[in-house]
Amino acid sequence: MTDIQRNPTRSVRIGQTHIGAQHPIAVQSMAATRTQDIEATLRQIKVIGEAGADIIRVAVDSRKDVDALGEIAGHTDIPLSVDLQENYRLVQHVAPHVQKVRYNPGHLYHHEKEKSIRDKVAFIADEAEKNDCALRVGVNCGSVDPDKIGLFPAEDSISPMLASALEHCHILDDLGFTRYCVSLKDSDPANVIEANKRFASERPDVPLHLGVTEAGMPPEGIIKTRIAFEQLITAGIGDTLRVSLTLPFDDKGEEIRVGRQILDDIYSGRFRSVPKLLDAGLNIISCPSCSRVENEAFIELAHRVREVTEYAKSHAITIAVMGCRVNGPGETDDADLGLWCAPNFVNLKRGPETIGQFGYDEVLDVLRQEVDRIIAA
Ligand code: SF4
Repeated sequence: MTDIQRNPTRSVRIGQTHIGAQHPIAVQSMAATRTQDIEATLRQIKVIGEAGADIIRVAVDSRKDVDALGEIAGHTDIPLSVDLQENYRLVQHVAPHVQKVRYNPGHLYHHEKEKSIRDKVAFIADEAEKNDCALRVGVNCGSVDPDKIGLFPAEDSISPMLASALEHCHILDDLGFTRYCVSLKDSDPANVIEANKRFASERPDVPLHLGVTEAGMPPEGIIKTRIAFEQLITAGIGDTLRVSLTLPFDDKGEEIRVGRQILDDIYSGRFRSVPKLLDAGLNIISCPSCSRVENEAFIELAHRVREVTEYAKSHAITIAVMGCRVNGPGETDDADLGLWCAPNFVNLKRGPETIGQFGYDEVLDVLRQEVDRIIAA
């Protein structure tokens, strides 16, 4: 057995699930179906719930999603969490239906620019309080608060994430709202490890939600996640976690099973070595998909990208495949080649620069040409 001294985080209740303090590490996942498709989303919640989820997240972007959420919430006992995007005011409509709301500090800039961030956070916290909800401050490498980015050298992607998370903890504490946790996610496990270790050393009291974003498909996605979790959890860091994998809807329970298996292995002293391939070879990152995917061909595309680039596996090339326009454009910027999916075409990028828009049936040929070009260079 591994002897793990967990950090002395405070206890945060999310419906009947408690995270933090010495509660078992909670395992969660996210419904990838369109929230407005109530039947499909309930089926997805059943699949994830039967796999043993402690919390299930659903995406809500519009009033129609909120209406669907109201119906969905009445059919499940598993605590639900909702992800707010730019429209932070939706919190007043979603909070009555769920047990936790996640907001991204980097998304609070888009609406009502004249209003202060503190006032927006106060609005969110007030709604959470009134509706018996917990909050997650979810900082993501692809959408960091623009005010923080300029404060640090361009090559330092971790300090802006950390500064943003700490600022929001400070705002929430100051507002007297302490029922929150924090996440600092990145697609690179090394960055996840460093960001979470640094945060935990500054705020050992705040529960942490662990995850490697856009980890990709099994088995690489599992390996990346396992690397991060092994190093953080053995250091006493982490109170809830999600394994983000690109999977067909019916296999989404796998995220929970893998999360529990990693925990079981860590506590039983079973560790895996870090494969060198992750540092040196082809690295394909892909988002786990969610209700924002506008063309389900994305999942097939992500798997095909891996097949057609197999020949380049010894080359240090990062390819990012994202499912939607919400996070796709930003989160492909750091990859050598990025694909983000629109309803009828795929945007292909070289770093931050757009190469063009291609049909789902033609983009792979162009991608191969780009891979060949990088190899030749
Ligand atoms: S990139 Fe878009 S589709 Fe993929 S998980 Fe993120 S929000 Fe969902």
